[in-house]
Amino acid sequence: MTAGTPIVVDNLHKRFDRLEVLKGISLRAEQGDVISIIGSSGSGKSTFLRCINLLERYDSGSIRIYGEALKVGPKGRIDNRQADRIRQRVGMVFQSFNLWSHLTILENLIEGPVHVLGMKRSQAIDKAEALLDKVGIHDKRAHYPGHLSGGQQQRAAIARALAMDPDVLLFDEPTSALDPELVGEVLRVMRGLAEERRTMIIVTHEMRFARDVSSKVVFLHHGRVEEEGSPEQVFGDPRSERCRQFVSQAF
Ligand code: ADP
Ligand code: MG
Repeated sequence: MTAGTPIVVDNLHKRFDRLEVLKGISLRAEQGDVISIIGSSGSGKSTFLRCINLLERYDSGSIRIYGEALKVGPKGRIDNRQADRIRQRVGMVFQSFNLWSHLTILENLIEGPVHVLGMKRSQAIDKAEALLDKVGIHDKRAHYPGHLSGGQQQRAAIARALAMDPDVLLFDEPTSALDPELVGEVLRVMRGLAEERRTMIIVTHEMRFARDVSSKVVFLHHGRVEEEGSPEQVFGDPRSERCRQFVSQAF
């Protein structure tokens, strides 16, 4: 295991032109934390995750991943070498799966390990097969993503993220694009990862899931942390009236 706190964000600010989207967000994820981020559409949840994974620059404040401060560059440019290094350690799973449609599921899983990590192809295949087994879609390994259900595609996307041996996993509404009957199979895989004590930050509207698996819940409102605490506190006895309303509508 690596030294240092997995993620420390301090007073993060981010604007898109005149729109201030993150207004001083701080968050700390310790090893094994599962942090759920909840909040209305447009509150800045995706932007926050994208900043951590260097998909988006930020304006001020700081992000440290295992002690390494993310640079945004002199004119707000992202340092590509750092971005590659950080993305190997911090995997991300998107709402829209983002699998490579022209590659089979197995090829999707070995691409990163072989080309980015320099793993031997045979070793990458062994690892990919084990991960596909773990997420319950080993029989789909030779299929193309378009031939899988949404739930199977998202499980493949999670396996692909795991193939890079990340230290932290970020999830941005991983079940929001799925038909209701397919949500459970993806949540089951994520629950398993939480039980392995993997460090995860999950943006989700699945409140029961968040209540069950999270070590901490953060409620964002208009780019600020409006409420944070244990799931018992945030869901059961929130201090903020806005959080209370949001939670009562969501359950
Ligand atoms: P959430 O994920 O909580 O729904 P987002 O982080 O996606 O919120 O968006 C927060 C705000 O930032 C929204 O008002 C959205 O329209 C705006 N926004 C997000 N991405 C961009 C972008 N690339 N350019 C301009 N505005 C953006
Ligand atoms: Mg979003």
